[in-house]
Amino acid sequence: MNQTASPTFASVAAIEDAAELLRKANRIVVLTGAGISSPSGIPDFRSEGSGLWSRDDPMEVASLTAFRTSPEKFFNWFRPLAGYIYNAQPNAAHIALTELEHAGREWTVVTQNIDGLHQKAGSKHVVEMHGTLRTLSCTECFQQFASDSFIQPYIEDGNIPRCLNCNGILKPEVILFGEQLLQSAWFDAQRVSRQCDLMLVAGSSLEVLPVAGLPMQALDRGAHLIVINRTPTYINVRADVVFMDDVARIIPEIAKRVLHG
Ligand SMILES: [Zn+2]
Repeated sequence: MNQTASPTFASVAAIEDAAELLRKANRIVVLTGAGISSPSGIPDFRSEGSGLWSRDDPMEVASLTAFRTSPEKFFNWFRPLAGYIYNAQPNAAHIALTELEHAGREWTVVTQNIDGLHQKAGSKHVVEMHGTLRTLSCTECFQQFASDSFIQPYIEDGNIPRCLNCNGILKPEVILFGEQLLQSAWFDAQRVSRQCDLMLVAGSSLEVLPVAGLPMQALDRGAHLIVINRTPTYINVRADVVFMDDVARIIPEIAKRVLHG
């Protein structure tokens, strides 16, 4: 059996249950985390087994304070991750979500990921809770730049990207540890979570606050909940349907049922 094999008999009923919830829903929020990017080859830098970060604790090198005091240490740590992100392509889960989005209901993706893979797959409504690697901003003059011409040379030679105006250090517009979320993103995420009638958690262990609280906001207003994540989450007990499985295997199965019966 390979990764794309049909779901086992036991989960066929669950796939149908999830598909039925999606068919009936009018306003859907998909909350995604590192688990939806790992099938695209992007490691979850928070998880200990990722093997990439044995030398440095990400909480230390990727904090806002660390970035300010020793940016070269941050850029050194971030370089392999930036390489993975830069080369990654959307996987079957991103693509299936995009197909469902284009099928016409009110649909918002709220993501904890910084890789832009939902947009690469064609998703139109994406709230990026932890910012994005697509843009950089100058720490001195605050000018914003598209990452494209800066990121590749940085990945190749390791040199810190510098502002074209003032030579200040450019910071990827990602939210570092200890850095406040963008207010607009957080407000958007809360609004859609409170208004949705179905939330689908896909590849998030719901361990990072405050994003982890969004399913509670949806449930408290009567929304249904589907959770697809390899490991248990705190909210599984309140979910209508739970898959402890790979999102790239389960989401395309659900989408197929929703879109093609
Ligand atoms: Zn500048």
